[in-house]
Amino acid sequence: MPGNIGTKRIVSQKTLHDGQELLDAGLISSQQKEAIDKVNKYYAIAVPPLLASRIQNQNDPIARQVIPSLSELKETPGEVADPIGDERFSPLKGLVHRYEDRVLIKPILICPLYCRFCFRREQVGHKQDSVLDIASWEKIFDYVKDHQEIREVILSGGDPLMLSPRRLSWIFQELDNIRHIKLIRLHTRVPIAMPERVNEALLKVLEDSLKSVWVAIHTNHVKEFSQPACDAFKRLTQVGVALVGQTVLLKNVNDNVSALEALFCKMLDYKIKPYYLHQLDKAPGTDHFHVPVQRGLKLLEALRGRVTGLAWPTYVYDIPGGFGKVPLGPSYLKGDDQVRDPKGQWHKVERI
Ligand SMILES: *Cc1c(COP(=O)(O)O)cnc(C)c1O
Ligand code: SF4
Repeated sequence: MPGNIGTKRIVSQKTLHDGQELLDAGLISSQQKEAIDKVNKYYAIAVPPLLASRIQNQNDPIARQVIPSLSELKETPGEVADPIGDERFSPLKGLVHRYEDRVLIKPILICPLYCRFCFRREQVGHKQDSVLDIASWEKIFDYVKDHQEIREVILSGGDPLMLSPRRLSWIFQELDNIRHIKLIRLHTRVPIAMPERVNEALLKVLEDSLKSVWVAIHTNHVKEFSQPACDAFKRLTQVGVALVGQTVLLKNVNDNVSALEALFCKMLDYKIKPYYLHQLDKAPGTDHFHVPVQRGLKLLEALRGRVTGLAWPTYVYDIPGGFGKVPLGPSYLKGDDQVRDPKGQWHKVERI
């Protein structure tokens, strides 16, 4: 896809899954195809039609996220297959119990698109064993029932909204019957990548739940906010779901002040509260997306004071090895008697 490809583009009606399909859609050049075929031996590709239609050129923030590059075959020291240490805290297939009051479930290892920087890229997109079987679900429900300290069930993946509304309905009904579960949270890119899946059947499942339902939307650039995506957000808020946003800080996608400001403000326009800005996890072949933490801190500092406080996410890092997510700052405090204002000036204060 050298330079601008505008008029040559053929907008496909189906999701693109390999080099040939990307080439046929005019998204890559024939020289790139070979490299992409190599990458595809290791990592899945999916570019849904809505996102494909929004890609303008090679450096487009959507293209950077979904079109493979040869850099993915380069491994950098520190990169590991399981960067956030899910394995260590997985008592059952499909379940991660790292924090006492909440469990994370991976009901499906399929996504509507495959992010080139994905932290679970070694797990998602394989053809076999991609949907959690009923026997595994039964064990998970028993585990959750037995652990009264669990308040929240997080459906992650993969992407839980790639499940059929029927399967989701069954899961929600089972969870509705567990008294100590108060919250159900889903992590998804479906409203952005395949908003047509946010249909009546799915909305009914979310609306009918007896629990407090939260949907965390993974979005990294304002260009992902197509009209169909925005309509899907509206449908979700209309059925009483609370929306939060999750963003990964990514080199040449959103690592500048104006991109982050536009993204966080756009989220608020659709009642999506920016929740986390994630420091990139060290999954294999993702170093070309790495933004140093000091740069991330500076970007957030530049937003402070100028943009509504509602637009401010917590900048978090998942410590490799499974030690948990922690906020990285920026900090405005020095010792216990000095505070920095948003313009950078220090003030001595008493009894803070
Ligand atoms: C990220 C994560 C959560 C959710 O953490 P919050 O800080 O509550 O958003 C829960 N469980 C696991 C295993 C996680 O990786
Ligand atoms: S949607 Fe999430 S799990 Fe799926 S490829 Fe992207 S980052 Fe990975």
